[in-house]
Amino acid sequence: MKPQLMHLIKYTMFTMNFFLYVLLFPFWLVVTLWTIATHKGRPWNFICEVKRFTKFYANKKQADTTILFPEKNTERPDTQLIKKQLRAFSKISIFETNYGNPKSFRRILIFTGIHGNEFASVTGFFGINKLLKRSNKSVLPNIKLTSPLNIYGYKKNTRFDELGEDLNRNFAKSLNPKIKLQRNLIDNFKPTLVVSFHEGPVNNFLLISEPNTQVQFTNKFLRLTKQQGIILDPFSYLKYPLKTSGLWQKGIFCEVLQRIGSLSSLGMYCQNKGIKCITLETNWNLSLKEREKMQIFILEAILDQKILIN
Ligand SMILES: [Zn+2]
Repeated sequence: MKPQLMHLIKYTMFTMNFFLYVLLFPFWLVVTLWTIATHKGRPWNFICEVKRFTKFYANKKQADTTILFPEKNTERPDTQLIKKQLRAFSKISIFETNYGNPKSFRRILIFTGIHGNEFASVTGFFGINKLLKRSNKSVLPNIKLTSPLNIYGYKKNTRFDELGEDLNRNFAKSLNPKIKLQRNLIDNFKPTLVVSFHEGPVNNFLLISEPNTQVQFTNKFLRLTKQQGIILDPFSYLKYPLKTSGLWQKGIFCEVLQRIGSLSSLGMYCQNKGIKCITLETNWNLSLKEREKMQIFILEAILDQKILIN
């Protein structure tokens, strides 16, 4: 090879290397600082991370709160109370209970306990049931309330059901009997509003509403919840600031993302059928009593006569 050509190759490589380092250095620096600032355990131990990752996926179907959110500690009812509740659930022979005025044009369908590790969404059923029972039938809309759908998850402290499935995913097509039950209820009852109780790492309270759920309704609703002393989360689940605190109004962008990720949820199913749907998220780091109280406030706000859904 001619020395001139060698020279050219060498300096081309040198220049390319130089630019590569200059361009990648800030990226490397950011990643390093970020790792150091947020690490748990030994950030340099790559093997340890790989093991943790594979363990997470092996346990994915049985994942519980400690694996999903290791730094969070949610209060769980004591064993005796759980046993008592499970006995009570086994006595509920029908899966849904009817309340209110059957002739009302407002038909509200309420799902509880979809995710077993969101304890208040399960235990809150008793308070919700009591509230509906003692309310004046004639002023109530037509209401169907399901008993907690994922009792197995509650027993085992996991998000998933006995089939290892998430009852709020693959919603439109799943053959899972509990998802089918939810779909059938929606198709037969034809609700004007679907409400689903959930919990998570939110700041106090967050309402997730599908694109077709009117903002006017949700604003009224949020004003009322605020009056009742519920602190509204200023951030979405993805941790970006919200236009209206406590209200995550899903836009078309979010829907497109969900479609791309084929993340079919109850919300999307309702959206496609033109039914209003709200998902209620309470902060699972608060005490169980506070969380259950918050659910009652929220439900009272939904049932308030000032809020019209049509
Ligand atoms: Zn949930």
